Amino acid sequence: MPDAVHFTRWEDIPSHLQTRTQLARQGLRPARGQAPVATMLNRLQPQAPYALYESGQAIPKRPATPAQCAALATARDRAYAQRHYGTCPMCGDTEVWRDALARWGQCGACQEKEELAQRDADRADAVAWARTVLADPQAMVLDTETTDLYGEVIEIAVLTMAGEVLLESLVCPTGGLGPSSPVATEVHGLTMADVAEAPHVCPALRSGRSHPPGREPDRRVEQHV
Ligand SMILES: [Zn+2]
Repeated sequence: MPDAVHFTRWEDIPSHLQTRTQLARQGLRPARGQAPVATMLNRLQPQAPYALYESGQAIPKRPATPAQCAALATARDRAYAQRHYGTCPMCGDTEVWRDALARWGQCGACQEKEELAQRDADRADAVAWARTVLADPQAMVLDTETTDLYGEVIEIAVLTMAGEVLLESLVCPTGGLGPSSPVATEVHGLTMADVAEAPHVCPALRSGRSHPPGREPDRRVEQHV
């Protein structure tokens, strides 16, 4: 289809161009050798657009025999039973595919709602914790950048509550958890090349020498990283 038109909205398609499914609903099918003249974007599978045929060139489908009809109906029922599970148990409203239900136990909307509620609860916990910690003037803040949400540390900083930087260093990860994910790199702007020459995490911690006078480095920090 070198000169084919590629539609992206169903409403733009003229009525004489139809998909195989639309033709079949009218008892038609593309004639032997009839090539599609246009395509419609398939949003779920962009690499497999829907083919559109000139309905005027389509021919009547051969009527199926009763045995073929019965076989088709059985196959359709089996496919439906395999895919369909039932309604979401949380909202009792949305139909969920069996695979999705086995994985999430609920529909997408309920899953999102639960995640939002969990995030709110986590945030409230974090705020309560931070209030307690920040009330202590001796407290220090350990700030890290990592290769991913559950990745390795690639930058570390220790600050006092007054904002004084006691330690700041890039850290070379062991690489055991893979390179920095593109999302993480977008957040902190660090690539694996940036940290390749940096010390590993324990030497990086020991290099923090700029402790304020009369104050020893907090070994607990080192032990907990
Ligand atoms: Zn639901």
